[in-house]
Amino acid sequence: MAVRVVIAGGSFGGLTTAYELRRHLGPDQATITVISKERRFTFVPSLPGVAMGTRRLEQISFDLAEPLAAKHVGFVHDTVTGVDTGRRLVVTEAGEHPYDFLVVATGHRSANEAVEGLGPFDGPGHSPMSAPEATELRSAVRALLGEPGPVVVGAAPGASCIGPAYELAFELDHLLRRRKLRHQVPITFLTPEPFLGHMGMGGAGKIRQLLEGELEERDISFATSAAVRKITAEAVEVEGAPPVPSVLSIVIPPLAGVDAVANSVGLANPKGFVPIDAHYRHQSVDGVYAVGVAVAMAPVGETPVPVNLPKTGHMTEQMAQIAARDITSRIGGRGGGLAAELSARCVLDMGDRGAYMAVDPVRPPRNAIPTVSEGRRWLLAKRAFERTYLWHAKRGRRMPATLGW
Ligand SMILES: Cc1cc2nc3c(=O)[nH]c(=O)nc-3n(C[C@H](O)[C@H](O)[C@H](O)COP(=O)(O)OP(=O)(O)OC[C@H]3O[C@@H](n4cnc5c(N)ncnc54)[C@H](O)[C@@H]3O)c2cc1C
Repeated sequence: MAVRVVIAGGSFGGLTTAYELRRHLGPDQATITVISKERRFTFVPSLPGVAMGTRRLEQISFDLAEPLAAKHVGFVHDTVTGVDTGRRLVVTEAGEHPYDFLVVATGHRSANEAVEGLGPFDGPGHSPMSAPEATELRSAVRALLGEPGPVVVGAAPGASCIGPAYELAFELDHLLRRRKLRHQVPITFLTPEPFLGHMGMGGAGKIRQLLEGELEERDISFATSAAVRKITAEAVEVEGAPPVPSVLSIVIPPLAGVDAVANSVGLANPKGFVPIDAHYRHQSVDGVYAVGVAVAMAPVGETPVPVNLPKTGHMTEQMAQIAARDITSRIGGRGGGLAAELSARCVLDMGDRGAYMAVDPVRPPRNAIPTVSEGRRWLLAKRAFERTYLWHAKRGRRMPATLGW
């Protein structure tokens, strides 16, 4: 009888795991089912572009059902409400799905409650963490263009996804300069990082100097080790400092695991993330794996204001490949696959140019001196990467390993 693999989540982690498993396991060996509450795959790294009006959601997303069916992967458009690890069942709003192997790839819940006033739908603060939030931010940016005023962009204490905060500050600066409105909009960048470019991974070579130069060149004032506490319609309140006036406040929240995972007995840590081993197997529940933002990962070290380790798209894909190899190997009776250190490649969109950084491994000390580079070519590379990624993902093809993020 075919082994049943159920994958919760249909984004970078879920899709990569499904395709990678199918590459090695025929339909007679394994049934693979992806359950996702979204009908579409969205290229999340382009959400800041949606917020700035340079990308449309339709351009950066596609329906999951057809490409998955073409690879003989089942697709269930439904919301997972819990996992019964004792009975090996994934419970959804509409039914139950038995599994032999489960891969949790449900990403994050934005813990907006960490900062009073961080909305966007129930408070004045904005964030681009999902398609609806990025769309909402686009309206707020349009309103700013009609009625310019001071802006704060930054990240909250405990945030892990800090790259998009830099992107939004630079992209907004670029947009305002193009519209000749920049002189009416003071921009302040507030970050919990102990130094610019820490990014939750202890920095990356010369990225600190690069970002400092860019912020200064563009007249963006900044504060590091800043603990954003409250957002109102007129200001952002920071611990131990005077409030910063702001009519548009964009703050990246700390992340937590989604409720369905956080509330399933024995599945997650107190933050709702899944504890995993080097093969992305659950540390104590047999048959369960987790990949991507859903996994628990310790920060690189203590900082005056907490900053957490990022789980980037590139890292997510590596985790999915390791987990899929491990499952394949176990199904084939070979015990388990090889573990590997994660590396990270990332391109920051700065509006008129891009900054590239590559670290290997993610956590310092590192075997290789990080690569950091800047220029218009990286902006073009980032835009080309989005299109190439979507082209490959729609066809179930593996991205060429040499292409960056
Ligand atoms: C604004 C922004 C910009 C970013 N930019 C970059 C970048 O430039 N480069 C980079 O490498 N990384 C970037 N990242 C990080 C990258 O997007 C993540 O690493 C990646 O999305 C993680 O993939 P994932 O599959 O783990 O989770 P997600 O992409 O969060 O997907 C989780 C999936 O699970 C589904 N799901 C959640 N709960 C349930 C449930 N209960 N039932 C069923 N389905 C559920 C969701 O609908 C979603 O489809 C960015 C992130 C953000 C937010």
